[in-house]
Order: sequence, then structure tokens, then C-alpha cells
Amino acid sequence: MRAGQRQPPSRGDDPGTKKKKKPAAARRERDALGEVLRVMGDSATARASSVEAPLDEERADKPAGGRGARRGTADGNNDGDGGSDAFGMEDGEKKTPTPAYDASGAEKERVVKRATERKSSDVERSQDWSEAAQAREVGRAAQYMRDLISRQVKSNNLSRAGSLADSTVLRRKGRLKEQDPFIEFIVDLFKTHETEEALAKAEKWLDAAIAMPPTKRRFANIYRQVPKLGYFFHALPLSKALAEYDEFCALTKRKYVRPNFAEVRHIINIAQVHASAREVKLVTFDADGTLYADGKHFEEDNQMIDKIIQLMEVGVHVAIVTAAGYPGDAKKFEQRLRGLLDSFKSARLSADVRKRFHVMGGECNYLLEVNDEYELEFVPNEKWRDVDSMTREMYWFAQSEEGRKKVDAFLDRAEKFLTDEAEHLQIDVDVMRKEYAVGVLPRSGTVYENLEEISIGAMIELSDAEVPYCAFNGGNDVFVDVGNKNIGLVTLMKFLGYEGHQTLHVGDRFTSTGNDTKVRDACSILWVASPDETTFFMRLLYRDIVNMRVL
Ligand SMILES: [Mg+2]
Repeated sequence: MRAGQRQPPSRGDDPGTKKKKKPAAARRERDALGEVLRVMGDSATARASSVEAPLDEERADKPAGGRGARRGTADGNNDGDGGSDAFGMEDGEKKTPTPAYDASGAEKERVVKRATERKSSDVERSQDWSEAAQAREVGRAAQYMRDLISRQVKSNNLSRAGSLADSTVLRRKGRLKEQDPFIEFIVDLFKTHETEEALAKAEKWLDAAIAMPPTKRRFANIYRQVPKLGYFFHALPLSKALAEYDEFCALTKRKYVRPNFAEVRHIINIAQVHASAREVKLVTFDADGTLYADGKHFEEDNQMIDKIIQLMEVGVHVAIVTAAGYPGDAKKFEQRLRGLLDSFKSARLSADVRKRFHVMGGECNYLLEVNDEYELEFVPNEKWRDVDSMTREMYWFAQSEEGRKKVDAFLDRAEKFLTDEAEHLQIDVDVMRKEYAVGVLPRSGTVYENLEEISIGAMIELSDAEVPYCAFNGGNDVFVDVGNKNIGLVTLMKFLGYEGHQTLHVGDRFTSTGNDTKVRDACSILWVASPDETTFFMRLLYRDIVNMRVL
């Protein structure tokens, strides 16, 4: 398994040995172990090579011949190149093409054909791009991580990537709070354990808990140590994820600086991707901060377009689950997703593929699908929301006049609290009131902590409300929405016929005041800090899925 991935530990460690190597070997060595240092280094030349090459490689995935052609060459993940395999995969497993698991006959052919095209395109690229060829000396996660860091350096105009932590994102967003009981627990373990030991123990304890019936898990060792751990649908191969991540950043070689919160988050995410790949049927994304920058739209050059289409083409259902809600106005939703919908159209996605895409707006209150004209249209409530007795019950607030009155009274109360609190904190705000939401938007710059104060205050103030709600810090505003993403996810899964272990939600707000937090008990999750990270993890996921299901 993963032959060739692990290199002797001494590789690159001994400067004397390095000098004796041939130039190509020496370059590989620098790539494999010195990329972080090069990104961080002072040399402008080193920066140019390490930053530009991966971005160019990414662009090489996107020839000018339209999106169909572009997808055909994307990633090259399943190229059987002898690089690192998906966890649990033997080399031979991916070499014999077998049909996609639930695709139609024509689609199976397309998927296999595309995979073959990717193979040959990768050979061509490897000839043209010596960097790409050398990159195969390390695992895919390491390659993708290098791309990710390079993009962060470039997009944030940094002269160097100071850390693998969320620092670049923090500078851009203000503050991204790092709160997660499991990650904090592992970070604490580093005080008394070596990095490998800590992750091996966490993995073992989580395995033991997952082997227990859900009703008894609270007695498991890990839950006794971390009572607020939350629900896990899969055992996580944390040690293997660490090994893969280690290829890029040599965490285990560090003696004095232990892995930080963001690094542990990355390792858990990589493990979750590999754990979910075998059975994932539905991938859902938060929008702002996850697919595109806060408050922005889906532009046509968004890297995630290819990833979303790729997932849909291998039979995975994709949905965007967002707080944004525009009652009765599908065009407004379309505006936010323009680049993605245009790509669906130019790629002439078949009806079969198209139907694997939904948008859940207003946390849980509006469901939209793509029609024959590649436009969004609302799915009638009676078809998705009211068809099942369990979900109909969850949406009691939307079912009657009495429910509406309760919603209006709740929103009045929330609005009063938000505006009073903003005034108390001396923040000038605009109020936005919608069918199922009310929010305050600062008129001028303010600090994240004040928005945090308002959202926590709103949570507490409204905690006795009958109406299900979600009070959250959106980063640039504070909103109280009726309903939440847990209701949205549960209903969507019910509508599509999938369960929590088959679903993976990717979001950027998993702190106590984040609106993605509530999905934790509904399905598996990936916590990302930027759209670039989302792309990184989706590249890994797509590659795993293709290796496991197609090749
Ligand atoms: Mg978000």
C-alpha cells in the first residue's frame, strides 16, 4: 500500500548527501521536504518558483477550450502513477476500470473515458512540467497542500507564508475563532505525548467509542474525557492522515513546536475525507467563506466549479446549504451562483447530472433545483418539505397562520434585542428583515468580538423561544434565522434518501456562534477556513471516490 510514498527518513536531512546527488534528484529533494521553507524563504526567486508553479499547474487543468474540456483534464488524480493512494487502497485496486457505482451506461463510459483522458493528459503534462513530475515524489495531499499555501501567499500579498495556521485567513477576515473540543483535546495531548502518539491514541479512543451503541457512547473513554465531542459517523484514520500531511510539513520532525489548532484541523479533515469517500452520496457546502469569499458571488473562474461538476458526474449529489434566503426570488439565488450555473450550461450537463444539484436557502426554508434551461427554480414545499411526517413536524412554524404569528413575534423580539445590543455597544447598524430572518449590519467597520458579543447575547436571550432558530455571527453581520442548517440537512437527506454517514457538510463556521455548527449531529463535517481549503479537500475527496468507485 502506498508504495513509494514513504521515503527514508534521512532523505534531505544530510546536506553532505544532498550535494552528491544529481541535479534532478536534488530538485526533487527540495520539492519533497523543502517546499514550506521555500515558500517561507527570503529569496524572491524561490518564491517565484514555489508560488507560481502550482498556480500554473492549476491553470493547466483549465485549457481555453471550454469547461467540458477543462474538466477532462482536471486533477489527474486517478492516474495510477505510483504516488500515494487513497487510504485503504492497494495499488492494484485502482488499475482495473470498473463502472461508476450508480451512473447510467452512457455516464459510466464518459467517466471512464474522462479518467483515461486524464491519464494521457497527465503524461503530457509531466513531460512539459518538470515540476509536476517531481511533485509525484510526494503524496497528493502534500501536492495539494503546497498549492493551497501558495495560493494563500499570493492572494494575501504576503511576502512569506508565516504559518500553516489560519493566520493569513485571520488577517483577511478579522478573527476566525478556533473552538472545537476534539481539536483542543488533541492539542492538549501534545503536552504529554509525541505527535504520533497523541493522534494514535485519539484514533484508538474514537474507534472504541464508535464501536459502542450510540446510546452508550457517553460512557466511552473519549466521551468521558471530551463530553462535548459531538457525534461521529466514521472512525477516523488519524495516524494515516498525519503521515500524509507530514509529507508536506514534517510535523513529526518538529521537536519544539507542536502541531497547532489549524494543523490538527487539517489532519482531522484529511482523515474525514478518506473515511467518507467510500460511501458518500451527498456533499453539501456552506456558501459564503466556503465556496467564495464572504459576501461575494460564484465567479466563473471559481476553482470549485470543476470540483462540484466532477462530484456530480461520479454520482454524488451536491447541495449548497446557505443562510442566504430570497423568498420567491429564484433570480436572486441565481445571481449568487451565476458562474456555477453558466458552467453547468456550457458543459451541457445532462438532466441526470443536473438533478444532482440543489440549493437550500435561508438555512432550511427554501429548496431550489436546476431546470432544463439551467436556471434555478423553487421545488414546491409539498414535494420536499411537507411530504414526510417527520419533516412536516419540524417545519410546524411554516405550516399554519398560528405558526406565522409565532414567527413574526419571534423576529420582533430578535430584532429588538439585536438593535438594543448594537446601540449598547455603540455600533451603528442597518436592520435587514426577511420572511424568516432578521439581522444587523454594521454601517462602518467594527470588531469581530463585538459581533460575537451580540450573537452570543442573542442566543442566550432567545434560548427559551418556541421557534427553532439560529443566531450567528456571519463575520460581517449578526443574524437570527428561523430554522437552522440541521433542519435543512436532515430534511434534504430525507428528501434525497441519504443518511448521515453518507453525507459530508463542508463549512467555515463551526464555532459556538457559527451557523454550520448545528449540522454536526446530522452528518459528517469538514471545517474549512477558506474557499481554497475547500478546493484542497474536494480534490482529495474526488480522487478517493474515483479510485474507489471507478478505477
Ligand atoms: Mg460561511
